[in-house]
Amino acid sequence: MKVGFVYHPIYLKHDTGQHVENAGRLEAIIAHLEQTRLKEQLTAIEPRAASIEELSLVHHKQHISQIQEAAQKGGGWLDADTVMSPDSYEAALYAAGGTMSATEAVMNGEVNSAFALVRPPGHHATPTRAMGFCLFNNAAIAAEYARSKYKLEHILIIDFDVHHGNGTQETFYDNPQVLYISTHEYPFYPGSGSIDETGSGAARGTTVNIPLPGGCGDAEYLQAFEQIVAPATRRFAPQLILVSAGYDAHRDDELAMMQVSVTGFAQMVKIIKGLADELCNGRLVLSLEGGYNLNALAASIKATFDILLGRSNIEDHPGQPPQRLKPPGIAPLIEEIRGIHALS
Ligand SMILES: [Zn+2]
Repeated sequence: MKVGFVYHPIYLKHDTGQHVENAGRLEAIIAHLEQTRLKEQLTAIEPRAASIEELSLVHHKQHISQIQEAAQKGGGWLDADTVMSPDSYEAALYAAGGTMSATEAVMNGEVNSAFALVRPPGHHATPTRAMGFCLFNNAAIAAEYARSKYKLEHILIIDFDVHHGNGTQETFYDNPQVLYISTHEYPFYPGSGSIDETGSGAARGTTVNIPLPGGCGDAEYLQAFEQIVAPATRRFAPQLILVSAGYDAHRDDELAMMQVSVTGFAQMVKIIKGLADELCNGRLVLSLEGGYNLNALAASIKATFDILLGRSNIEDHPGQPPQRLKPPGIAPLIEEIRGIHALS
């Protein structure tokens, strides 16, 4: 079982200062993978910069030049959440390019699966604007790249970041070749992701939103994965699975109100890997999105790699005691979503 990872020091040069999405996140991940000797069991995949043409598979030219010019002018705030430094444009080119490199390595059979450990993250970036810490939409660009380069006609993007990937949804809202499935806290930033947003025209049904109330933990997420993600994926029969892997639903994460544990993330990844093995020769590419508690993030990513390597014993990390809040019952919500998408 060969598992790849993408990393490059350029990702640290997207300098956001004291911002919660900062270079310390990737430094903590890499340090943990080294300390646990996990990194040496992985295959390093060299990232490249995305070309303007590749970014244009998703983004309007005007948006791309706006980001480039903002970096040339020294960076600054693009909106209340999203900040850039002089090197952010280049880092963003490598974040999109790194997710494409991971996709190439999986499609060429160099590795069975791969995780692009990149920043800035991507899933909030829409075709026309940066938002929510995101400049270019890494996963969406990789999906479009896989469609154009490998002529794939069924690509699945699973997004388990605690926030809704509005940019990814918007990119593929009328594209029946890309199924977008998101679990996210709701109502919450960025506001989109209700159960009625299901795609338009010929793509109706290829956006599957699973908006969860705050307080959900491992049991609720697994319920959503087993009862919605798995049957929707089997019906779609993807040729490649991309994952917007954000770990901010962890119970120690300060940005949201969910209660997922490291073990819970491992179980979700195990379900996704099982679907990839069953449906598309194991072709699975993850790209890092959120996750802001450094210990929880590093432990969750190590657990993700353990699952990708085919292991089953997962080390959780102590962190906060579980179940600070009583998890809400979500059975009626799950049934409603299954009804909307005619899942059985
Ligand atoms: Zn997030």
